[in-house]
Amino acid sequence: MDALNALFDGNPRLPSPSLVAMRILEEVRRDDCTFAEIAEVIGADPALTAKILKVANSPYYSRSSHVTSIDRAVGILGMVLLKNLALSFVIVNDLKGGAERDLRHELFWRRSVTAAVGSELVAELIGEPADDIFVSALLQDIGIFVMYSAHPDRYQSVLDLRRSTGRELREIERERFGFDHQEAGSELLTRWGLPEAMHLPIRHHHTPQAAPAAGRRRAEVLELADRIAAVYHDPRSAEAVREIKRLLAGYRVSETECEQMIDQVAVRSRALLSSFEVAAGELKPFSQILQEANEELARLNLSYEQLVLEYKQARDEAQQLALELKSVNDQLRERAIRDGLTGLFNHRHFQELLDEAFANPQRMREPMTLLLFDIDNFKTVNDSYGHLQGDAVLKAIARTVEEAIRPHGVAARYGGEEFAVLLPQCAPPTEAARCAERLRRSIAELSVRSPGTEIRATVSIGIASCTPARGGADKARLIAAADRALYASKHSGKNRWSFADAV
Ligand code: GH3
Ligand code: MG
Ligand code: MG
Repeated sequence: MDALNALFDGNPRLPSPSLVAMRILEEVRRDDCTFAEIAEVIGADPALTAKILKVANSPYYSRSSHVTSIDRAVGILGMVLLKNLALSFVIVNDLKGGAERDLRHELFWRRSVTAAVGSELVAELIGEPADDIFVSALLQDIGIFVMYSAHPDRYQSVLDLRRSTGRELREIERERFGFDHQEAGSELLTRWGLPEAMHLPIRHHHTPQAAPAAGRRRAEVLELADRIAAVYHDPRSAEAVREIKRLLAGYRVSETECEQMIDQVAVRSRALLSSFEVAAGELKPFSQILQEANEELARLNLSYEQLVLEYKQARDEAQQLALELKSVNDQLRERAIRDGLTGLFNHRHFQELLDEAFANPQRMREPMTLLLFDIDNFKTVNDSYGHLQGDAVLKAIARTVEEAIRPHGVAARYGGEEFAVLLPQCAPPTEAARCAERLRRSIAELSVRSPGTEIRATVSIGIASCTPARGGADKARLIAAADRALYASKHSGKNRWSFADAV
């Protein structure tokens, strides 16, 4: 144990007991120490006396009368407890430090006092003589204190590693120091000359099964005391409670007894902590913590449900909004591509459709046909029946065109009284001519009712076909060819169709 000896030998940063502590230690070491002797030591230190009296008067120890002297206190507390309390106060006071003590110190001692209180209650539950268990439990983690004081940076790295990896503290300590806090703690108490009954359990408080038979029970009590301290000061309280119940089940202690004991530790620790001049902090009985946690949980659940509800409502609203938006967008898009009067695609969109058809010419292996047509003498229609009647004729022709070119053709209003039809799979000359003729005839057969008469109309059609995959044709040439053919129809008498000379 060279590493352990090196820690203690000649290290000025290690805690050493004060004069009063030394004297109490001496008394504790002696089995035959009398009450008068210990009372004298305590009485010499007014602060210590005040603390002991405070404990003796606390609800846990006091019966009826007000204890005003150490003489009376011994009757209340008993010799062993008096010695232990005195020793604990003095040691904690010495080690706790003054100005330099920080939150970590505070937490360390709060945890230690809780463990000490827990150890007494556990010892009582399992019928183990309580004797010095309080001091052992109080100082069981003193090794951490020693190691931290001697090498703050190195020990901080142990703590950091434990937090980041969740590994056992003892394991990391051994890795970084060559020994763990059980060994360091029991070594310190040995060097202070405290009896084996106190330091042997400390040496094995995390591994009672490895302790020599003489100290095993007490090591187990310390292990339980450590778990009890964990309930109040470490994360994962519920896990610690389960562990305590499991360990105490081995001693036939019921779960209810465990819970009562754990609660009692909090109440008793609160009373004692002020005597140790350690802030109690939020030390509430565990059952109360549980209840509050459950209430908080219930509250959270409620708002969680509300949250879900609100979320669902928001989601439904968003969906509804998205639907409306989509429909508005669809409408806008329709408006953008449709002609307002006839409902056919407009000129711009028809150009886009033609662009698409020529965008991947190699895919367009089938011949397609473009029909461009213009209403014959439409000016006369307007002049004879009025513009509104002219509009009605335009609309009626649009419906007729749509009917005639179904299902594959696409129709557009190309200009004022000019229309265009694209037939994606329509080969010249026979098929194209058949389509054009069907279109011409159905429009010629159309009659639009007007007050007092029926309006009839005819169209002149230009036909141009091409097969983009074969090359040679493009959009502009196709349109130009159809346009030439349209004018050919006009010039050869109207109400007819003509093929383009060449595309
Ligand atoms: P052609 O047989 O040579 O085509 O003779 P046309 O009278 O049809 O040709 P022209 O180009 O001289 O006249 C076209 C007429 O179409 C003129 C215009 O007022 C009319 N027109 C164009 N757009 C509309 C429209 O939206 N509504 C109505 N009612 N008339 C329109
Ligand atoms: Mg015309
Ligand atoms: Mg015209």
